[in-house]
Amino acid sequence: MKFTKKTVIIGAIGLIFIIGAATGIPLFFYAKSNRLTITFIYRAGIMLEHNSKRIYIDPYVLLGDYSKKPADAIFITHSHEDHLSTYDINKIYTESTTIYCPTTDASLLAQYNTVPLEPMEEGMFGKIPFQAFPMYTESVIHPEENNWLGYILDFNGFTLFHVGDSDCIPEYAQLEGKIDVLFLPIYDSYNMMGPAEVNQTIHIIKPRYMIPIHYLDEALEEFENDYVPYLTDTIFLRLQLGESHTFRLAQET
Ligand SMILES: [Zn+2]
Repeated sequence: MKFTKKTVIIGAIGLIFIIGAATGIPLFFYAKSNRLTITFIYRAGIMLEHNSKRIYIDPYVLLGDYSKKPADAIFITHSHEDHLSTYDINKIYTESTTIYCPTTDASLLAQYNTVPLEPMEEGMFGKIPFQAFPMYTESVIHPEENNWLGYILDFNGFTLFHVGDSDCIPEYAQLEGKIDVLFLPIYDSYNMMGPAEVNQTIHIIKPRYMIPIHYLDEALEEFENDYVPYLTDTIFLRLQLGESHTFRLAQET
């Protein structure tokens, strides 16, 4: 048999294919690229890791060596100190980090690379579409006119919604059936959602998963006892501080 250039190339491709099929290495990389890992940090802080991108929402009380986990993007819901913490932002901020925040809070983040947003404004971070969503309560603590924000992020059609410090607001009706993972506070103070409003929000938005954040222990316990047993279409997923959960998007969407 003559080893022409063509037969060598075909042989090499065949060999790569056989090795790939035998070892499952390509499948490993495929599966890994379709994973979204969510880590509950503290208060309303979460970290999202998808492909090579790392995104934080409201990073606060970052314990451990987070300098090894720099942010590609940081989303800030509003300027209360347990949501906008420059002390924590400085641990994960690099020259290539983009910070998204409400327009009304942009002056507090002037030293960073920021993109100010208005409620309902849409944008793209790399290949990740996102939408800023209204966030407010009836009280003066989170007034509607501040134009503070929740965020919806879309990972290849798998959607996450972090509502910020919000009450159950009428705007949620337009999200029915559109959210896969819903992050809700269970605070029952400052006119934020308590257990009953959290249950109401879940029944309006109908997410596939609900993850509690920013909760008072007794309010979370009340929600777990009085409402979780009756959830039929939504999976209640409680993460401990620092705990992660990975979604395999291709399989679980
Ligand atoms: Zn707040």
